[in-house]
Amino acid sequence: MTQASSAPYQVLLYYRYVPIADAAAYHTGHRELCESLELRGRIIIGSEGINGTVSGSVENTNRYMEAMLADPLTAGMEFKIDPAEGHVFAKLSIKVRKEIVTLGLPGEADIDPNSLTGERLSPREFYEAMQEEDVVVIDGRNDYEAELGRFKNAICPPIRSFRDFPEWLRENAPNLRGRKILTYCTGGIRCEKLSGYIRQEGFDQVYQLDGGIVKYGKDPEVRGRDFEGLCYVFDERVGVEVNLTETRKIITHCRSCGAEESRYGNCRWPDCNEQIFVCSDCRGTHGLFCGEACREAAAGAGIPVVPPPEIPV
Ligand SMILES: [Zn+2]
Ligand SMILES: [Zn+2]
Repeated sequence: MTQASSAPYQVLLYYRYVPIADAAAYHTGHRELCESLELRGRIIIGSEGINGTVSGSVENTNRYMEAMLADPLTAGMEFKIDPAEGHVFAKLSIKVRKEIVTLGLPGEADIDPNSLTGERLSPREFYEAMQEEDVVVIDGRNDYEAELGRFKNAICPPIRSFRDFPEWLRENAPNLRGRKILTYCTGGIRCEKLSGYIRQEGFDQVYQLDGGIVKYGKDPEVRGRDFEGLCYVFDERVGVEVNLTETRKIITHCRSCGAEESRYGNCRWPDCNEQIFVCSDCRGTHGLFCGEACREAAAGAGIPVVPPPEIPV
């Protein structure tokens, strides 16, 4: 739980699948705790557990972890900790939902990872399994996350939302039968359900990366080996480094000049707002637009098309 960095803030990522009998009451108490510690971030609470990512000062995030570990419901829970220079969220959002990640399976078909899930692999075991013949590595995230970074040779389903996964699996099942299936996601929570779902669909060799990409990147032995690009995160950082080995590379490119670029921006034409990669040189000369049509629309509406050069982050 201690951190080696001298950064004044921390970002925590955590989840636990555990029955919460009265999610509404838990929500109330949890909100008070987070507000008293001035945390920001996104937390989802449901009758099946809790899923959160928050930022706060080192002192307050440490207190938060102590409080969670002292609660029998979340005792022993694993926190992934990133140092940060400040908050990475604009506000605090705590919601009660039916599922803590939405796979959207109806009623009895829903997966309880405590009774059905894929076998967990440590970062090292996952790396070794990826080297085997006839293994399929499936990215359990959305397409725009995989676009920024993914494991070498992974299959990235073209889905915009986690709830589209079951349909993709049914369509692709014939190609996957008889093969060893490895799944991964950002922090591990989606794979708990996803790998359980794949098993429920009749596959028997199903494995998941324990702790997800984030833990894989922090593992002192594998150090993110063979993860290409950056890991997409749902906060102001958008992309974080994973691979600290000589296999690190950037896989995304400026849509204007083709140079390597890993920083997402939103097309400045408000009606479009598409998430795109444009390098800082091209932002300076053409502005941050997905194409000529948006640039012209913005110019026609009086929006400055070439902003002053931004200070690199
Ligand atoms: Zn460019
Ligand atoms: Zn656009």
